[in-house]
Amino acid sequence: MQTAEIRRRWLEFFERNGHTVVPSASLVSNDPSLMFTVAGMVPFIPYLTAREPAPYPRATSVQKCLRTLDIEEVGKTSRHGTFFQMNGNFSFGDYFKEGAIGFAWELLTSSVEAGGYGLDPEKLWVTVYLDDDESAGLWKRLAGLPEERIQRRDKKDNYWHTGQPGPGGPCSEIYYDRGPAYGREGGPIADEDRYIEIWNLVFMQEMLGEVRSKVDFDVLGDLPAKNIDTGMGLERLACVLQGVDNMYEIDEVRPVLDRAAQLSGRRYGAVHADDVRLRVVADHVRSALMLIGDGITPSNEGPGYVLRRLIRRAVRAMRLLGVEDPCLPQLLPVSRDVMKLSYPELAAEFARISSVAYAEEEAFRRTLVQGTQIFDSTVRELKASGGSALSGERAFALHDTYGFPIDLTLEMASEAGVGVDEDGFRRLMAEQRDRAKADARAKRSGGVDVTVFRDALAKHGPTDWLAYTHLRTESR
Ligand code: ATP
Ligand code: MG
Ligand code: MG
Ligand code: MG
Repeated sequence: MQTAEIRRRWLEFFERNGHTVVPSASLVSNDPSLMFTVAGMVPFIPYLTAREPAPYPRATSVQKCLRTLDIEEVGKTSRHGTFFQMNGNFSFGDYFKEGAIGFAWELLTSSVEAGGYGLDPEKLWVTVYLDDDESAGLWKRLAGLPEERIQRRDKKDNYWHTGQPGPGGPCSEIYYDRGPAYGREGGPIADEDRYIEIWNLVFMQEMLGEVRSKVDFDVLGDLPAKNIDTGMGLERLACVLQGVDNMYEIDEVRPVLDRAAQLSGRRYGAVHADDVRLRVVADHVRSALMLIGDGITPSNEGPGYVLRRLIRRAVRAMRLLGVEDPCLPQLLPVSRDVMKLSYPELAAEFARISSVAYAEEEAFRRTLVQGTQIFDSTVRELKASGGSALSGERAFALHDTYGFPIDLTLEMASEAGVGVDEDGFRRLMAEQRDRAKADARAKRSGGVDVTVFRDALAKHGPTDWLAYTHLRTESR
């Protein structure tokens, strides 16, 4: 089943069940505590936190999302993209656990002819929060799941809150067993690659007081109106339904990967390190397309910096695959052609999008040439003086002045047969971050302009916890 079809069925199913279809919001979040829309619920935060009355009791969407937190996973795990789409259904004080579990089970397991996804019920596993017997009971009653396929997880994995006093609650995740070829038996607790998480149901039922950490907070009592927030990874379900190994091989991504393989003359599936790079290229090119599509342009901070970093990582991966010519003109149109089925505006605006992307690649290529010269002369000096490792200062200068990501420096160093003082590099990076933070604090205390806060966030990255991930901030 094509991704566009999975999306269509989702919206139709929930619309049939009384949900208002809400178009995707921008990738750039309108919530001041987040740089990007990291989950389908982000545009609904005012309703979920009861800051504003919800204009409808039930809603559904397919939301464009971006998670920079997952960038290092891309290409290495089978299931993490920087850009991805989260299908969601939401209840604002309307149906609760029984409705959410019932809808999820029906849509996943009803036949394709009946408008569902036709998944084999025997392959589905779920997790519930430790003491959430109510949900466990519903999974047994509504889905007929046996006890063994209902696993319990603690606050770290199965309790959601925003990190602030406000709503919180247990969640229940649905996993698909891809079979022994993908790993160990024993359910998602044993192996999250074999048992791939496809859908997270969040039951917002409690009011939290002080929140000290992801796992340490006070519960004040039950919420008067309980909400449902769910998120299903569109690419993950596509991966399952298309019978491919990972999300970079689905119909919306694979053609870019294939084009990159063709340009580099590498055969996908032959060498693991090359495969990872090809997947990174396919992911990052698509993310860049979608970000520029949403009006972002490359810059040195905020969303623009993330875009810059994605483009650089894609270009660098292509160079490591042996492609020295500009690659985006070869790859971006391929991504557009598959993504435009769901996002026709990409085709209409491609002249603008591509000129932004190609100019950024050109700029990075110039930087790379200069940086490579500096790198080469440093290595020559180093070898002449009998040294064996590039200093942290040099690696930092390459990063700061020439935009060399540390892994590029590491790769080039290893090719040149020298080491890198990585600890020294990281120390300098941390110092720079602290300086930037202090700057931002100074600015912030100087006025009430909220853009200051945005700038600080932009420099230091967002917290991703609103999307029920771990409480942690990210540095660039
Ligand atoms: P994982 O544990 O696999 O990292 P998660 O628990 O962080 O996923 P949630 O925050 O629960 O994910 O998001 C809801 C759904 O969105 C997930 O069940 C998954 O299907 C999908 N999803 C999350 N992160 C990604 C990603 N980086 N790429 C693709 N799909 C994702
Ligand atoms: Mg998870
Ligand atoms: Mg989850
Ligand atoms: Mg995650």
